Amino acid sequence: VVLCEAEEAPPTCSRPYAGEARFNWKLFWQFLRPHLLVLGAAIVLALGAALVNVQIPLLLGQLVEIVAKYTQDHVGSFLTESRHLSTHLLILYGVQGLLTFGYLVLLSRIGERMAVDMRKALFSNLLRQDIAFFDALKTGQLVSRVTTDVQEFKSSFKLVISQGLRSCTQVAGCLVSLSMLSPRLTLLLMVATPTLMGVGTLMGSALRKLSRQCQEQVARATGVADEALGNVRTVRAFAMEHREEERYGAELEESRCKAEELGRGIALFQGLSNIAFNCMVLGTLFIGGSLVAGQQLTGGDLMSFLVASQTVQRSMANLSILFGQVVRGLSAGARVFEYMTLSPCIPLSGGCRVPQEHLRGAIAFHDVCFSYPCRPGFQVLQDFTLTLPPGKIVALVGQSGGGKTTVASLLERFYDPTAGVVTLDGRDLRTLDPSWLRGHVIGFISQEPVLFGTTIMENIRFGKPGATDEEVYAAAQEANAHEFITSFPEGYDTVVGERGTTLSGGQKQRLAIARALIKQPAVLILDEATSALDSESERVVQEALDRASAGRTVLVIAHRLSTVRGAHHIVVMAHGRVCEVGTHEELLTKGGPYAELIRRQALDAPAPDMPR
Ligand code: ADP
Ligand code: MG
Repeated sequence: VVLCEAEEAPPTCSRPYAGEARFNWKLFWQFLRPHLLVLGAAIVLALGAALVNVQIPLLLGQLVEIVAKYTQDHVGSFLTESRHLSTHLLILYGVQGLLTFGYLVLLSRIGERMAVDMRKALFSNLLRQDIAFFDALKTGQLVSRVTTDVQEFKSSFKLVISQGLRSCTQVAGCLVSLSMLSPRLTLLLMVATPTLMGVGTLMGSALRKLSRQCQEQVARATGVADEALGNVRTVRAFAMEHREEERYGAELEESRCKAEELGRGIALFQGLSNIAFNCMVLGTLFIGGSLVAGQQLTGGDLMSFLVASQTVQRSMANLSILFGQVVRGLSAGARVFEYMTLSPCIPLSGGCRVPQEHLRGAIAFHDVCFSYPCRPGFQVLQDFTLTLPPGKIVALVGQSGGGKTTVASLLERFYDPTAGVVTLDGRDLRTLDPSWLRGHVIGFISQEPVLFGTTIMENIRFGKPGATDEEVYAAAQEANAHEFITSFPEGYDTVVGERGTTLSGGQKQRLAIARALIKQPAVLILDEATSALDSESERVVQEALDRASAGRTVLVIAHRLSTVRGAHHIVVMAHGRVCEVGTHEELLTKGGPYAELIRRQALDAPAPDMPR
């Protein structure tokens, strides 16, 4: 009768999601492997370009040599003598340009494709994580892993291959030609350059630290603006625009100070490094000049030396910048890969399915204990036992914070109980296919319906991908929504805002109901579905809910007791336990906690059906 893929229930587990991640080279290799051929080609081109760069100073020196000859005696034709060298140089420039074009194109191709693959893999694995994972982490952090961190990793990767390879080859190649030109000058250069580089690197790391602080401050300021703009209704309602302005202004001011400090640091660095580089040129000319005067070096060789040493210095400066980029790239990569390998405790699918015709929809909680993974010390449910007979309406009432929503979450298998079992038709939920359970068996309607930024049609179809238009209309009719939808000029094609702000609370809720009903669920969970609505909307929504409840197993969670009177059973819970079960009349005559709740609510507000 039951279709099974895997009988074994996975073990329950819990773990913290924080912690410093290490870069996962194995995973990186998997993303790189499809591009190895192209990468090889890019590397060959980049090396070629670098080798051409090493050639250029030597040829320039030879050209200068010819020029120098003509400054002394003007015999022969400069043009004919230099033509060969000039064309050679021109060809090299052309080749260098072509090679650069080639490897940059190839690298951007690899980088972009890898970034897409990584984003897809990360996003799909994030969507698979347990709800507990999302309890523990901020959405903003997760989004920035998919966007910023992948971006950062991609640019580091491209930069390391292009600049790193080129700079290393150029440093090595030019050092060889330098030492061939003049070993003595090279020795001097070898002492001076690393010293300057060392100072530069120290300054650079200080600047990097400042830059990181700057970015963090900017992020803080953005956070303030984001919060204020995102919650503008609350800000407006409390007339707090001024305070928010001040808060944002203060953060901006802070970030300006930091950014200016960084600007001064960069300016100082640039100024000093200009002085250093110019001094190096002057020093080389001075010492080289005395070598030329002593006839130990030709003027042309000195020229070659100057250009080549500039190439070395530029490349080394590049390498030191690159080092910082590598560090940042590796940590961004580590953050990206961290959640790619994480596997959830509750898989999305896999397990038994009960065929539609055998499904009765009987739910039972047996001695369930539960505490949220992010608050392990706090028991929300203790020995909680509850039966939902098939086709009956059971109401769950109790004080706010008593654990009612938690019961619904366990039924949806957002979490697994720490002890005890939840069963559907006598089968442990953990042996059932979660995607089938959520997609076909259970319809969940919460207090705060969330709609997506698309058409009404698509929003309802979210409950059953591939549903026909007729099915959507039928579900909307069942949810009392068809009438208001067709009153819109664009009907079912009306695009609702990202948060559905163009609709009233009651309208949003009815769309949410239609979305839940379209999958024809055997079990319906209504978690305070009408409590955020005014009494007029509540009436319309309640009517839809009453109609939808017929013939289904329904769990109604409510704190407004007027809405649960008609339930077959009323279960009162307090402190994570069931304290009373019965019908409305039974519980009233018993005079226990339920009667007490009723009495208190009658004092708080007149019942909605009382004449005013
Ligand atoms: P109710 O729906 O009856 O108002 P809930 O089931 O939402 O109560 O909450 C029960 C208890 O569990 C509360 O003390 C609440 O603070 C806690 N709680 C609810 N959701 C979470 C969560 N995601 N992580 C940690 N604790 C939670
Ligand atoms: Mg609740």
